[in-house]
Amino acid sequence: HSVRARGDILIDHVSYTYYGSDQPVLRDVSLTLKQGEKLALLGRTGCGKSTLLQLLTRNWDPQQGSISIDGVALPSWQEKALRESITVVSQRVDVFNGPLRENLLLAKPDGTDEEFEAVLKQVGLSTLLDGQGLDTWLGDGGRQISGGERRRIGIARALLHDAPILLMDEPTEGLDRRTEQQIINLLLEHAKDKTVLFITHRLVGLEQMNQICLMDEGAIIERGKHDEL
Ligand code: ATP
Ligand code: MG
Repeated sequence: HSVRARGDILIDHVSYTYYGSDQPVLRDVSLTLKQGEKLALLGRTGCGKSTLLQLLTRNWDPQQGSISIDGVALPSWQEKALRESITVVSQRVDVFNGPLRENLLLAKPDGTDEEFEAVLKQVGLSTLLDGQGLDTWLGDGGRQISGGERRRIGIARALLHDAPILLMDEPTEGLDRRTEQQIINLLLEHAKDKTVLFITHRLVGLEQMNQICLMDEGAIIERGKHDEL
């Protein structure tokens, strides 16, 4: 399958066991997200949330069950079309040693300096531009960035990579509450018409979700709307 997705996601009775382990990390997980729907996934540390995200981005394949996007099973998707269909804000953001610009070009190869500067402002990273602007060298031998700055670079990338599906894995972990609220608002505004899977430990933004699912030991144990749970 070689065209960009509309954004329907179907996770159908998926189980997953890590290689070398005898315990499944995901147990018979089923979730449906129609194009434009927003689902929050909550659950204790280690319950399998990030693993599910890895399966959705096809980093690994489930041993049982299947995942499809727009009705097309993940294995049938061409790599390029899949990458263009999904934006991921990972739990751990990788920033590589190099200019700030290169770190953003990754998310939008045809992005312009003006766009990059605007998006850095949006996520509160204008100070990174002080001095050498987008030529500022990040990492070893350059500007050392804090955990919070690293997070925001991940957010900036998500805002630049304009795909129909947005997967977020605790995107605001480690940010203060006011910043967290701002960033979630920004992301959800950006994703207004997108399909969103939002993994979180916190309660910020949940009122904007269509479904809230609670996971425990790899299984979905509760699901409902914000006012039902
Ligand atoms: P957290 O809220 O802390 O991010 P999580 O819900 O995202 O937790 P996962 O990262 O999906 O949890 O991990 C689920 C389980 O799978 C954990 O017991 C973890 O130790 C195990 N696990 C995660 N990654 C691997 C791996 N690459 N190989 C083997 N086991 C793994
Ligand atoms: Mg995780």
